Amino acid sequence: MGYFSSPDLHNHEQVVFASDSETGLKAIIAIHNTSLGPALGGCRVWNYKDGDQALRDVLRLSEGMTYKSALAGLNLGGGKSVIIGDPKVVSTERMFRAFGRLVDSLGGRYIAAEDVNTTPRMMEWVRDETQYVAGLAKELGGSGDPSPFTAYGTFVGMKSALKKKFGSESFEGRKVALQGLGHVGMYLLDHLIDAGAKVVVTDINKMKLAEAVAKKGVTACGLEEIYSQDVDVFAPCALGAIINDTTIEELKAPIIAGAANNVLDNYEKHGRMLVDKGILYAPDYAINAGGVINVYGEFETYSEKRSFQRCDHIYDVLMEIYNRSEAENIPTMEAADKVAEDRIRDIGRLKQMHRSGSRIFNR
Ligand code: NAD
Repeated sequence: MGYFSSPDLHNHEQVVFASDSETGLKAIIAIHNTSLGPALGGCRVWNYKDGDQALRDVLRLSEGMTYKSALAGLNLGGGKSVIIGDPKVVSTERMFRAFGRLVDSLGGRYIAAEDVNTTPRMMEWVRDETQYVAGLAKELGGSGDPSPFTAYGTFVGMKSALKKKFGSESFEGRKVALQGLGHVGMYLLDHLIDAGAKVVVTDINKMKLAEAVAKKGVTACGLEEIYSQDVDVFAPCALGAIINDTTIEELKAPIIAGAANNVLDNYEKHGRMLVDKGILYAPDYAINAGGVINVYGEFETYSEKRSFQRCDHIYDVLMEIYNRSEAENIPTMEAADKVAEDRIRDIGRLKQMHRSGSRIFNR
C-alpha cells in the first residue's frame, strides 16, 4: 500500500518504474494528467538518496507541468521523468537509449525533454529510440534554446503586472531590479532597456555584471542589496526560494515578476504575506511558460514568430489570475491553480467528447 498512500500522489494517472540490470538504468516516469494532451516534461538526472526521494520529486514536478501547460493554453498534459544516479556515471549513450526505449513503450503518452543535468546530446540518444522527445536543438529539427521565449514571456507578464498595479503597462520611467543575468536575464534586460525602463542588476558572476554595466549602461548592486532597491518591479531570474521571511521585509517593489522557478520559499505562507503587504506577485509557472510554449511549436510546423505570438497570451492569463486573486482575496498562486484547474476541467471534458481528435502528435 505504501506508494498508493503517498501524499504526493495527486491523482497521477500513471507512474512507471524501470530497473534494468543490463544497462543499470533506474528511472521513474510520472504521468500526472493527460486531459489536455500528451504529458510533456523534462527528464532530470539526479543522484537521489533513495527511490522514495526520487518518487517524491517526479510526482511533484509532473503535477507542476500539468498546471503550467494548462495555464499556457497548450494542448498538453503534465509529466516528468527522473534517471537516478550520479550524472557523471549515468550520462552515457547506453543509458539514454535504454531510457528512450522506456519512453517509447508508453506510445506517446509521455514526451521527454531536457531538464537538470540533461543536454541536447543526451536527448539525441533518446531520439534514436523514440519519436516522443521534444525541445531538441535547431540542427536536429527542434525548437532550440527556449530562453529568448521565456524572457519575452516574462517581459509580457511584467507589462500585465504594471497595468494591474498602475493602470499603464508602459515601462517609461519605471525602475526594475533584475536578479540574475543568465540565459533568460540577459534577454530580458534587452527588452526592458528597449522599453525605456531603468534597470539595476546583480549576479554572482562578476564578469556578466561588468559586461551588463559596460555594454548596456545599467547600474549594478550587491547580491543582498537587490531586494531593498527602490524600484517598481523586482525580477527574480536566478534562484528559487528567494522570497522568504527575511526578503519580504526588505522588499520595496510593489511587483514581483521574474522567470525563476519556485520563487516563494513557502507557497502558502509567503503567498499570503505578499497579499497582506500589497505586493503583486506574478506566479512563476504562469510568467515563465515561454519555454514550454516554444517547445509546443514542434508539434506543428515550427515557427519562431508563432511562438513569440503565443507568448503574448501570458499577458491575458496573468490578468485573469490577478483579477481572480483580487475578487476572491486569495494569493495569486492559488488563483493561478484555480484558473488552470478550470481549463483542465472544461477543455478536458470536451476532449472526452471527441476522443479520437485529442492527439496532437503527428510526426
Ligand atoms: P542560468 O543558469 O543561465 O542563469 C542564472 C544566473 O543567475 C547566472 O548568471 C548566475 O550566475 C546567477 N546567479 C546564481 N546565483 C545567484 C545569486 N545568488 N544572486 C544573483 N545571481 C545569481 O539560468 P536561466 O536559464 O537564465 O534561468 C533563470 C531562472 O529561470 C532559473 O530559475 C530557471 O529555472 C528559470 N527558468 C528558465 C527557463 C529557460 O528557458 N531558461 C524557463 C523557465 C524557467
